[in-house]
Amino acid sequence: MTETKKTTGRVFGRPTTFEDKWPTIENLKMRVTEKGYKEKGQGEQERVFTEKEFPGDFLKCHNPLCKDGEVDIGGIVSDMVAKTEEHKEGTLHCSGQEISGTYRSTCPNSFGYEVEVKYKK
Ligand SMILES: [Zn+2]
Repeated sequence: MTETKKTTGRVFGRPTTFEDKWPTIENLKMRVTEKGYKEKGQGEQERVFTEKEFPGDFLKCHNPLCKDGEVDIGGIVSDMVAKTEEHKEGTLHCSGQEISGTYRSTCPNSFGYEVEVKYKK
């Protein structure tokens, strides 16, 4: 049995490159739509990432009241690579908490995602 390490991209505090992390991926396209609260009230923001412009494993939440909110988009890709999946879609919920005075509640923002991956032959 070989040891399988769970790479988070923060090993030794250094970011790994996309290719180091997922060497079997030829192309990737990920569309993420964040829904919920933003600086200017409720809204929706869509972002598209590729293997050349990947923001890192974690995407920050834009809810101004949210503390430490982020979603693990790198985990989705790692999971797909482990199963050689080419298409995946779903929704991630923000892991942060809204804090306003003494009031705390789970952040309502959600991140819909759709990922297409092409693997190297
Ligand atoms: Zn949040």
